[in-house]
Amino acid sequence: MFRFQITALFLAVLPLSAQAEFSSVAGVLAGGTEWETPYYLINSGQPGPTVLITGGVHGDEPAGARAAEQIRHWRIVKGRLVVVPRVNVPALTAGTRHMPGVEKPLLNLNRNFPRATGPNEARGELARALWSLVEKIEPDWVLDLHEGFHFHQINDASVGSTIIDANREEADEIIPRMLMSINATISDQKKKFVRLRGSANGSLARAANAHLGAAAMTLETTRREQPLSFRTRQHRIMVHTLLAHLGMIEAGTPNLVTPSRGKSLLRVALYDAGGVGGNGPRQLETVIKEIKPSFTWRISSEDIADGALQQFDLVIFPGGSGSKQAAAIGAEGRAHVRNFVEDGGGFVGVCAGAYLAAANYKWSLAISNHKTFCEVREIPKVGRKSMWYRGKSSTVKMALTKAGKEILGQVEGTIPVRYHNGPIVSPANHEGLPGYQVLAHFRSEVARYETQKGTMVDTPAIIASNFGKGRVLCISPHPESSKELRPLVARGIQWAASSGKN
Ligand SMILES: [Zn+2]
Repeated sequence: MFRFQITALFLAVLPLSAQAEFSSVAGVLAGGTEWETPYYLINSGQPGPTVLITGGVHGDEPAGARAAEQIRHWRIVKGRLVVVPRVNVPALTAGTRHMPGVEKPLLNLNRNFPRATGPNEARGELARALWSLVEKIEPDWVLDLHEGFHFHQINDASVGSTIIDANREEADEIIPRMLMSINATISDQKKKFVRLRGSANGSLARAANAHLGAAAMTLETTRREQPLSFRTRQHRIMVHTLLAHLGMIEAGTPNLVTPSRGKSLLRVALYDAGGVGGNGPRQLETVIKEIKPSFTWRISSEDIADGALQQFDLVIFPGGSGSKQAAAIGAEGRAHVRNFVEDGGGFVGVCAGAYLAAANYKWSLAISNHKTFCEVREIPKVGRKSMWYRGKSSTVKMALTKAGKEILGQVEGTIPVRYHNGPIVSPANHEGLPGYQVLAHFRSEVARYETQKGTMVDTPAIIASNFGKGRVLCISPHPESSKELRPLVARGIQWAASSGKN
């Protein structure tokens, strides 16, 4: 891959119909400005349509940006695919719909493209840069990936879960197919996708249709109540249906394809769906960003069911509820995770994820030879209570062991760490599972009930073991919450990923 500015050089390279070989090149839009953002051109070398995919036009709609970044790794066998995954980088960074620091009337990027009946002129630096790319590639299809705040069928003030098209005949043939494929994955009737006609004036899709004659659509998932991985997958499914219909990808191509592992590229799957709560996924992404080169893609239970773990080196299950995570991925998903680790994949479980890895529940993975302190005890004047619950988030102390310092770094003394009902572990003595190594101990404790007192202090806070060819790291507290402890978590992740799979 190489990078170049979108300038005359781009034009010199771009009469791509002349290129016979498959090629993938990258460039930047609005280079040298605060709006600078990469784009990718994947040319099959075979004649066929040109499809443009854009994500992140609105910064509070992250699924489109993530999906576009993933789609650019698909193998294209016909025509060419042009992808701008993160159109509006400052807005994505800020998590805002509008462009930070931009005055009305230009703050909504998706109203800055040429109006349907007006002159062929985009307004503002970023819209102009993107529009000049669109004009140069002359796309036959434009798919702009967005998100709404609510399901359109439930609340029609939102365009969530719709395909909005700028009318063209080709769209009449394909949109029903796209709706059929996405709606086959949704059981709740009210959450199914519907078609809306007529994109907003000044939107990228409307402009591409009005000025360039492209068949253009805005795909809208719904942010509400749905994990990011799930919405990202919905975008992939709709785009996959179109590209398969156009013959640009081979039938049976999975909708999630990671770049193959380079020398040291770390590919992390971060589960963020059923049973995950709080800021864990976001904080863990921040941790992994420090590991270079690496990438983190969020995955859902549906992705696991599809066999997507095969594409990664490591899977992380963050905080939330272990039993709910287990229920969400189901027995089949749990078998996928076990097989993945057994074959050499890495596993990191944080808090709930460490419950999930345990050997003592019917629903747990039994990939780590620990049990958790979770029996139900009768508490005088309170009633029957499960011992896993110790109350709200608090700070406890932990200290690394000698083995812990080797793996996690030379952190001396006792370290404050956030704790929120993580497992209190002890050996499960499960036959057929190797024992675990203790990397850190709790040196203080929290207890809500009398019967919990003395049961946490000096027990393991972090343990490590092997399962088949893979490595398993279980972390009871939340070191990813503390900026100072993130390097420790990063080292743990790298250790777990350095297994037999490579
Ligand atoms: Zn939007």
